[in-house]
Amino acid sequence: MEQLAERAPLFSDEMEKGLTLTLAMEEAARCLLCFDAPCSQACPAGTDPGRFIRKLRFRNVTGAIRTIKENNPFGWTCGAVCPTAKLCELACSRTAIDKPIQIGKVQRFIVEHGWLMGFSPIKKPDKTGKGKVAVIGSGPAGLTCARELTLQGYEVTVFEKKGQAGGNLRYGIPPFRLSEEGLSREIDEIVSLGVTIKTNTPIEGKEGLKKLKDEGYQAVFVSTGLWDPIRLGIDGSDLTGVMSATEFLGSMRSGKASEMESLIQNKVVAVIGGGSVAMDAAQWAKKIGAKDVYVLYRRSYTEMPAEEKEKIQALNDGIHFLILTQPVKYVGNGALQGIVCRRTRLGDPDDSGRRRPEEIPDSDFELPFDVAIEALATRPEPALKEMAELSWDKNTISASDTSLQTSTPWVFAGGDIVRGPALVVEAVADGKKAAQAIVEHLEGKGE
Ligand SMILES: Cc1cc2nc3c(=O)[nH]c(=O)nc-3n(C[C@H](O)[C@H](O)[C@H](O)COP(=O)(O)OP(=O)(O)OC[C@H]3O[C@@H](n4cnc5c(N)ncnc54)[C@H](O)[C@@H]3O)c2cc1C
Ligand code: SF4
Repeated sequence: MEQLAERAPLFSDEMEKGLTLTLAMEEAARCLLCFDAPCSQACPAGTDPGRFIRKLRFRNVTGAIRTIKENNPFGWTCGAVCPTAKLCELACSRTAIDKPIQIGKVQRFIVEHGWLMGFSPIKKPDKTGKGKVAVIGSGPAGLTCARELTLQGYEVTVFEKKGQAGGNLRYGIPPFRLSEEGLSREIDEIVSLGVTIKTNTPIEGKEGLKKLKDEGYQAVFVSTGLWDPIRLGIDGSDLTGVMSATEFLGSMRSGKASEMESLIQNKVVAVIGGGSVAMDAAQWAKKIGAKDVYVLYRRSYTEMPAEEKEKIQALNDGIHFLILTQPVKYVGNGALQGIVCRRTRLGDPDDSGRRRPEEIPDSDFELPFDVAIEALATRPEPALKEMAELSWDKNTISASDTSLQTSTPWVFAGGDIVRGPALVVEAVADGKKAAQAIVEHLEGKGE
């Protein structure tokens, strides 16, 4: 163990530097070992930081790894991307003395340390062949559900539309926040337990679920996320250089990365939107060599949905914010050359509680841009909405809060497709909940 002490963290070249063993132990020594562990109660996926930090504190490193991995197959991923300041660290009792324990960083360190040690706490199940379950979508919700069911003896196949597994962890969150290698390790761990993932295999359209039933699947978990980008739909949207954030981020993770890089290098880029996805797209465009990146947002800085930390990071990276600015027209001749924008001011609050942007008449102005990336909301793809067995509440599937069962008893659903845009840790929580409910349904104990 001493040899490993200063070797961690892995993946620090592209990601923010993680903790070493010494620093992780120092954090664990600050833990108050709370009896009620508010941090554990605040984790949606039940990762149980109170328990793994206590184990680390008493030098039970393998026990700490086991706690994380038993509770959360994406323990490393969550340690890297969870908004801990709003979850476990917000609840941490140590805050009343000085500052919270850095729970996310300790969690990430413990998993990496397990990898360095070659220690895998979760073993392939002895019992198998209990029945066949299909999972649609290989994001964190689907893969968590698949692992939990496999560990309970079910034969699980995950059907994935894209070329690689991981959902938004692979095709959304940029590698400077979540390294490909770390993500692949967590997915490989799940596959090694016996989960089958069929990539390039969409399940959609009217016959999609029926086909699975005909193939003998006794239950289905739908965890497809939201992949159809909502677009501005203004004049000039078909010009070269105008795209959605889904397309930009996805291309950067596929064979089109070099094409995207040559489109953006030394160019002036507009990213439209004020959420976390806009911040990721803006930072990535800057990292691959954009001359200047502007975030165009129609409300003010305070109303931007991105986390404060993300906004500050973007500003520190030299990204410019053009607030109270609404794009109204793309201009160019085949390729984008500029955006006509209209000034806005804040009116009364809307349904979201944020002050509504009101356009100011006769305030249009044009700015030169070569690339525009629209980072607005996403919704389910139309072919998914055709599935007859699913009932919808606008853009999300209706499912029971307690069991995630849909109106069709053998079909369950969770993650973003039920919650709307949410968090990785919430997708993991849904995967666990759905697996439990599917077992109860198939073993005659469910609703
Ligand atoms: C750019 C970006 C940054 C983010 N950053 C963070 C962050 O820092 N922290 C955080 O907690 N959350 C973050 N999120 C949100 C988080 O990634 C999602 O909440 C989470 O991935 C949802 O998981 P899911 O399993 O429900 O769906 P997804 O991750 O969306 O996975 C769904 C999968 O289903 C597949 N699929 C879709 N339709 C079909 C079909 N018909 N057949 C087969 N497969 C299909 C998709 O290809 C995809 O692989 C971010 C999201 C984005 C887009
Ligand atoms: S709330 Fe903070 S101090 Fe208490 S057990 Fe959790 S990490 Fe330790």
